[in-house]
Amino acid sequence: MVDKNIYGYTLRDRYNQVVYIGQTNNPRARRAEHRLEEKEFYTLKTERGGMTKAQADKWERDWLEGYRKRHGRNPRYNRTTDGQPTGKIYKGGESKPSKGSQRPRVQKVEVTVAVPETGYCLRCGKEIPFNPQRPYCTTDFRTWERFKNTEYEEQHCHVCGEEHDTSMVKPMCRSCYRSNRAFVA
Ligand SMILES: [Zn+2]
Ligand SMILES: [Zn+2]
Repeated sequence: MVDKNIYGYTLRDRYNQVVYIGQTNNPRARRAEHRLEEKEFYTLKTERGGMTKAQADKWERDWLEGYRKRHGRNPRYNRTTDGQPTGKIYKGGESKPSKGSQRPRVQKVEVTVAVPETGYCLRCGKEIPFNPQRPYCTTDFRTWERFKNTEYEEQHCHVCGEEHDTSMVKPMCRSCYRSNRAFVA
């Protein structure tokens, strides 16, 4: 039995223009990753779900091909020119095109959502790197991991650090969630 759990997705800027085409089995986690990679995008849109890996590869190739036909180049953050699926994780600062890339130039685009750099441990309130996927300090993450209860009630907001009822699934207070929901929802 082959898993059919792959989504094809696009990252879009706020004018709904595609800046990246990719595939994942976990759009939510992938979106948070992309944010941390400092890609500039407004939304991650799942275009198609329920695909096998092979189907998703084909989907991605076709999308890239179609995109290149219309635009004469790859989406801003897709770096391969041959239309091969990348499945790649871009790290922050790696935004230069690789050698042989057809991308004519790197466009300067205003960042629409700023990713917070620091956050706070949900449990002890200590300052830690911002990461909604892992909003705990090392010690408390270890403890949390023993039970992996994503709804376990914690005391601090991951973003502002203030005392609020939070949990792994809701790591932010209401007002922080409003301004940062792009990273978690
Ligand atoms: Zn802690
Ligand atoms: Zn907050």
